[in-house]
This record gives sequence, C-alpha cells and structure tokens, in this order.
Amino acid sequence: MTLPAFKLLRPRTIEETVTFLDRHAASIRVLAGGTDLIPSMQQKLFEPEYVLDIRHIAELKGIRQQQGSGVEIGALTTLTTIEQSSLLRRRYPVLTEAAATVASPILRNMGTIGGNICLDTRCLWYNQSLTWRKGCGFCIKKDGDLCHVAPGGTKCWAAFSGDTPPALLCLNAEVEIVGPAGARRVPLRDFYTGIGDNYRKLQPSELLTRIFLPQSTADYRGVYRKLRIRGSIDYPLAGVAVVLKRSNGHIADARIGITAVNPAPVLVKGVREKLEGKAVDEALAEVVGDLAARTAKPLTTSALTPEYRREMIRVFTKRALLAAASN
Ligand SMILES: Cc1cc2nc3c(=O)[nH]c(=O)nc-3n(C[C@H](O)[C@H](O)[C@H](O)COP(=O)(O)OP(=O)(O)OC[C@H]3O[C@@H](n4cnc5c(N)ncnc54)[C@H](O)[C@@H]3O)c2cc1C
Ligand code: SF4
Repeated sequence: MTLPAFKLLRPRTIEETVTFLDRHAASIRVLAGGTDLIPSMQQKLFEPEYVLDIRHIAELKGIRQQQGSGVEIGALTTLTTIEQSSLLRRRYPVLTEAAATVASPILRNMGTIGGNICLDTRCLWYNQSLTWRKGCGFCIKKDGDLCHVAPGGTKCWAAFSGDTPPALLCLNAEVEIVGPAGARRVPLRDFYTGIGDNYRKLQPSELLTRIFLPQSTADYRGVYRKLRIRGSIDYPLAGVAVVLKRSNGHIADARIGITAVNPAPVLVKGVREKLEGKAVDEALAEVVGDLAARTAKPLTTSALTPEYRREMIRVFTKRALLAAASN
C-alpha cells in the first residue's frame, strides 16, 4: 500500500506549528511518532494535503517533576521513555504499566504519549484498505452514510483503543492544548466526546502539547490489564486500569478506567463509593468487576465478540483490583 501524495512541513517551535495548523486547517494532519498515522494514510483513511511533522520540537519532549505539584510530560515523549522512567514507575506505576503494553518495543520507541491520547478510534469495518472498504461498502466514519455495526443507526461506535488514557484518567491527568487563541488546560476526562467518528475535542488548528499528572494521585498503587489477540503487538480489545490508595489496610480512594470497549476511554462510576473504608476481598472485587462490565458497551467492532470483551472487563477488573490491593 502506497502513501498518498502530501506536502511535508517541519516546524521547530510550538508557535510555528500553530501557524501552520491554522493556515492549513482544512487539510492537515499532525505526525508525532507516525505509528498510527502512516498505516492509516496507507489505507487511505486520511489523505491530507499537508503532513505536519512535529518531531523536531524539543520543548515537547521529556518528563519534568514540578516542585510540589506533580509531573509534566511533553506530548512527544516516547512510550519507551515513559515505560523506563524511574520517576513515573515509582510515583505513577499504572502509567508505566499501561505504556509497556502498547504495541511492540519498536513501535514504543517511535510512538508518543500525545499520539496515544489522540489516537483515532478503531473498527473492523474502518481499519481496512481502500479496496476492502470499497468492496464492503463505505460507512459513516469515512465516505459512507450507514453503520455496518449498528445498521439503521446514525452514530459511529468505533472503539477508542489506546492503552495509556484509562491510566491517565485514573490519575486525574490534565492536558494542555495550544491553538491560535492561546493555551488551555483541560481534564483528560473532558477531552473525549464518546462519538466514534468525532472522538476528541481538538480543533484541526490545535495541538496537544503537555500532560500533567497531579501531586494528589502520586504514589497510588496501580495495575493495568489488557486483552489482545497477539500478546506481543496488538491493540487492546478490552483494557482495565486500576489505581488505589490505602490507609491502615483499608481503601482510602480508588478509580478504575476502561478502554477499547466504548468510543471513549471512561472512568467507571461508583468505584470509590463501593470500596472506601473497606478491605478488598474476592467478593468485593467481584462486585466492582460487575460495575465495570456494566460500564463497558462493546459492539462488533473487532474480531472478538462483544460478550467476551465485556466479560473480560469484569475478569480483568477483579484481578487488577486484587493485585493492586495486595502489592
Ligand atoms: C501494529 C500496531 C500495533 C499497535 N498496538 C497498539 C496498542 O497495543 N496500544 C495502543 O495504545 N496503540 C497501539 N498502536 C497505535 C500506536 O502505535 C500508538 O497508539 C502510539 O502511541 C501512537 O503514537 P504516535 O506518536 O505514533 O502517533 P501518530 O501516529 O503520529 O498520531 C496518531 C494520531 O494522533 C494525532 N496526534 C499525534 N500527536 C498529536 C499532538 N501532539 N497533538 C494533536 N494531535 C496529535 C495524529 O494526527 C494522529 O491522528 C499500534 C500500532 C500498530 C501499527
Ligand atoms: S462503528 Fe459503524 S460507522 Fe463506525 S467505523 Fe464501524 S461500521 Fe463504520
């Protein structure tokens, strides 16, 4: 599969990047590590006139501890850097665990945390070559007007399938977005729309620049578990992040984030209320697993059945919770 023709732009600063984005907003794509964008362009899912290669913006790379107020991560920081960061491993272990499960080592060397957060949603009927999609008929997400997954509906249900966002949601992360009107900082939980073909609140003229992990969730115990077909490389088909804080053997705070089973990564509601002040045992973990499974709304967007993926959310939640409570 060949790449469509495009003009390559290589800014060196955030200001230059925003100028390019603003000028060519009608047909431009940001390229960070390119590990998802390039295969998607080869499949002709995106055919932008301009590709904006942001890899040379030095200020967007690296992990910085902020005095007394958590950690700042540049959007271009690679997943390998995150996985290997002793600071993050010690203070935000759920994030390093999730990053370590993305794709394969080579892809993690290229892939960035910003790209993982901004990752396009996925569907069996969408992530295919142009020839395949032509043969089966185009759908709402690209070039068509019907949905093969929910026929008769008008909404796209493609699943958000990034591994780090559920962990970041659990940590109450915020993201900085820079555009022509300046910079704004938003909680990650407000970044996603829950609509498969318009999944993030990011204008074409905007860039995600930084991620902030608050001091308040530092040192929370954390575990990430994911379901995939090939353990060495595949996207998640169901993923669960668990964080908790203990005090005197009991849970003082807890959050669970799930991915790959809805059009957005989401936090499971009611987790803290169920766990606060209690010690985690099999029965309680089972109850919370049920809660997570009820939050998952998988459809036939992947090779595994929705029933199996929902069941694995229940099983992984239970296992992750027991593991986090015991380590
Ligand atoms: C075989 C294979 C397996 C994979 N397995 C997994 C997996 O298990 N888990 C997983 O989470 N991902 C997986 N991926 C997807 C991908 O490798 C990762 O999600 C990676 O983190 C994407 O980062 P990137 O920098 O390469 O993004 P890119 O491909 O450069 O960009 C991805 C998207 O984000 C946009 N974007 C990137 N950075 C920014 C920014 N700073 N501001 C605004 N928009 C931006 C791009 O325009 C594009 O739309 C896999 C990919 C492949 C090819
Ligand atoms: S969920 Fe429906 S509209 Fe969305 S990509 Fe899949 S088939 Fe297309």
